[in-house]
Amino acid sequence: MDVPTFRRVLRALLDRYKPRNWAAGLDPFEALVSIIVSQNSTDLVTERVMKDLAARGPISSRAILKMRPERLIAILRPAGLARQKVPKIRKIARTLVETHDGKMDAFIATPAPVAREMLLELPGVGPKTADVWLNLVAGRDTMPMDTHIARLARRWHLSAAKDYDGINVDLRRYVSERERQAGHLALISFGREICQARRPRCEVCPVYEDCDSEDKRPRRAAAKG
Ligand code: SF4
Repeated sequence: MDVPTFRRVLRALLDRYKPRNWAAGLDPFEALVSIIVSQNSTDLVTERVMKDLAARGPISSRAILKMRPERLIAILRPAGLARQKVPKIRKIARTLVETHDGKMDAFIATPAPVAREMLLELPGVGPKTADVWLNLVAGRDTMPMDTHIARLARRWHLSAAKDYDGINVDLRRYVSERERQAGHLALISFGREICQARRPRCEVCPVYEDCDSEDKRPRRAAAKG
C-alpha cells in the first residue's frame, strides 16, 4: 500500500472509530499502571480493574507501595497475569519514589528521545509501553504499536521488518505526527474488530477496495462464510 492509499484508509478508520485519548486527565503514574494492567486484557476489564483500584484511594506510587502485594494481586486478577504485573508496578513505584520523588513530571518535561530512554530504564517498561505513555500522556509524536498494528503493517506491506523498532520506523513514514495518537487507537480498534488475525472479516471491511493484502478474501466467498 502506498502512502496516499494508506492516508485514505486511515482517514476512513478515524471517521469510523473517532478514537478518544482515554489517558487524558489521568495522573501520569495512574496512566502507566493502566497501560500495564491492559496488557493481555480487554479495555472493558482494564477499566473495571482500574476503577476497583481507584476506589481504594488515589493511584500514586506511594499508595501502591503501601498496599499489600496480595491485595493488589487480588484487584488485578481479572485482567490476568496479576502475579507478573504487580511486582512490575511495585518496582516502578519504588524506583519513582527513590529517584523522582514518586512523580513522573521529569518524564513529561524531558525531550521525547531522552524521556523514552528514562522510561525504558524503569523495571518492566518495554518500547511499546514507553511509546503508548509518551504519546497518550506526554503528547509526544511516538507511534505506539501493538500486535494488531504490526499485523496490519505486514498485511498492507507497510514494513518488511520483523522487530518493533524496525516496523516502527517504517510506520512513521506513513502516519503523520499529528495523526499518531488517534491513528494508533483507530488501527488497534480496526485490528480487533475487522482485520482479525485468524480470519479477517473482509466481508464487512470498510477499506476493502484499498487493501492489497494476500490475506484478503473474495467478498462473495467471505459472505458464504
Ligand atoms: S480486506 Fe480483509 S485483509 Fe484487507 S484490511 Fe480488510 S479485513 Fe483486512
